[in-house]
Amino acid sequence: MNQEPEPSYQKRKAAKPYAWNGRNWFQLAVFVLTLALGVQFYFFVQQAMGTGPVSIQRPAGVEGFLPIGAFMGWKLFLQTGFWDPVHPAAMVILGYAALVCLVLRKSFCGWFCPAGAVSEWLWKLGQKMFGQNWRLPKWLDIPLRGLKYLILGFFMWVILRMTAMEILSFLNAPYYTLSDVKMLFFFTRMTLLTAGVLTGLVIASLFVRNFWCRYLCPYGALMGLFSLVSPTRVERNAETCIDCGSCSKVCPHSLPVAAKPRIISSECSGCLDCTAVCPVADTLELKSKGLGKRPWSITALGAAVGLVFLAAVFAAEVSGHWQSKVPLRQYRMILKMIDSPHVTHPSFNDM
Ligand code: SF4
Ligand code: SF4
Repeated sequence: MNQEPEPSYQKRKAAKPYAWNGRNWFQLAVFVLTLALGVQFYFFVQQAMGTGPVSIQRPAGVEGFLPIGAFMGWKLFLQTGFWDPVHPAAMVILGYAALVCLVLRKSFCGWFCPAGAVSEWLWKLGQKMFGQNWRLPKWLDIPLRGLKYLILGFFMWVILRMTAMEILSFLNAPYYTLSDVKMLFFFTRMTLLTAGVLTGLVIASLFVRNFWCRYLCPYGALMGLFSLVSPTRVERNAETCIDCGSCSKVCPHSLPVAAKPRIISSECSGCLDCTAVCPVADTLELKSKGLGKRPWSITALGAAVGLVFLAAVFAAEVSGHWQSKVPLRQYRMILKMIDSPHVTHPSFNDM
């Protein structure tokens, strides 16, 4: 009787594409935490705008939504050693995101960013609703992917040209002190135009995977640039790969995983969706140079991304680099003028 030849590879139980896993739990936890901080901040602002006592603490974590101020703060710090006392947590969060992406690819986007999580939930919902997502044709996709770098380039050009004095003047302006409240009002006092743009983004995200992250997010573009020097990358063993193509099909960033020995793209978010669906053992793995042959599991990567965040916040809190130094009295005084022309974005001529 003829015996079937033993395959030269070892099969393993692959996960179903996009099966809910530890990374999705991690994203959900960060999203819920962000939402809770937003609600706490909302009630803090309500109290601070009134005349009574303020019993709710301002959650410093909301400064994660002030990346431009954080970027200015980092430039000032690197130039002068001065740490922004107005929104110091913004610098901590940007520093954390950059560190994670420098070491672990763009894992900040794939694991931590709440906007990235919402983007992902939307295209998965779209997939359920329409049975598929769509890819834009190359002639449109490639230039659109450059858009986020153009937006990032614009902000970097403006900020890198600013002198230390100009940055200091911006950070001390009432507008910057209340930039967290302005961000809150962006959602709670939404204009028709904002609502229209957000609706457009939601609709586009249902059809095109990660529409916001892929084409428009300057924060992600910056993280992608950091990730280019990361020692961590998805590696494919061409000798055991059976060319099933599952990895390429599942990649949320449409990277040609099955066709490359390793993925060094600035788009790779370290989501591990590709490695999870690979049906052959030891064939597709996320590895870091310098860490031997051990691949990253979902649990280990999640623990690293989470623990680095907790360590960064803890270190910043105990060293006095987390909470704003603006006294509550001063904050409340400026808050009363939030709708006045004194609290508008300072132009460079004012500096
Ligand atoms: S290459 Fe793999 S880890 Fe990177 S984004 Fe695509 S699916 Fe995720
Ligand atoms: S590396 Fe990709 S193409 Fe090769 S076996 Fe694994 S999933 Fe299939």
